Amino acid sequence: MLQISDLHVRYATAEAVRGVSMSATPGRVTLVLGANGAGKSSTLRAAAGLVRSHAGRVELDGQDVTNRKPHEIVRRGMVLVPEGRRVFAPLTVEENLVLGGYSAKRQAADAVLKEVFGMFPILEQRRAGQAGLLSGGEQQMLAFGRALMSSPRAMMLDEPSMGLAPTMVESVLGAVRRMAESGIAVLLVEQNPDLGLEIADDVVAMARGEVVFTGPAEQARSNASVLRAFLGEA
Ligand code: ATP
Repeated sequence: MLQISDLHVRYATAEAVRGVSMSATPGRVTLVLGANGAGKSSTLRAAAGLVRSHAGRVELDGQDVTNRKPHEIVRRGMVLVPEGRRVFAPLTVEENLVLGGYSAKRQAADAVLKEVFGMFPILEQRRAGQAGLLSGGEQQMLAFGRALMSSPRAMMLDEPSMGLAPTMVESVLGAVRRMAESGIAVLLVEQNPDLGLEIADDVVAMARGEVVFTGPAEQARSNASVLRAFLGEA
């Protein structure tokens, strides 16, 4: 389980995250909603060790990983799939995947690769093809697959549906759901409440660097107008 407690992130000009607490549970999708600039990405990046948090705590299954190096946090079981996919375009699909499992032993990596192909058959079909030639949705699957190669117990996904055609958005959200159902704790950032709520179990809403709502997705769905008010400008 991922537990973020009273996290603060400060940049030169502003405090982007001001005492944020949220958690993600194995087997469940926790949706993080919020308008542009609410502090969602900063929260994820700090939890992943990519920016420094000035106060607060990040725990993975009870182990303190606050402000550890990003690769160490991956090794301890948590991976961030950043906004914008960023696959290695000139490399093949399989080469991209193998890079994601850099810390694993060869045999273990082969077994995980099989699992990833089981979850994303399209990646197996395209394994020898150049990653840059995949469609946007397929590149997102590849970014997920690469993250799965480190056998994470927790995954943070920053707006995976961004810029995708509607049919692709559906399959990407389906993939997020399957990853959670395989037992991973998933923290999903998504700006569009209607999309995210399709697959979420729990919801955290942020505005201006703070958490303004935490509750079951059911409650957020039945109070969509209240949720929109919480989100402010969303
Ligand atoms: P978006 O959906 O636009 O990414 P967000 O909710 O993820 O929004 P953040 O990207 O975390 O929000 O940004 C929170 C605040 O921190 C914003 O005011 C943003 O301008 C500021 N900010 C983000 N990154 C930096 C940075 N590297 N340096 C200075 N300010 C930053």
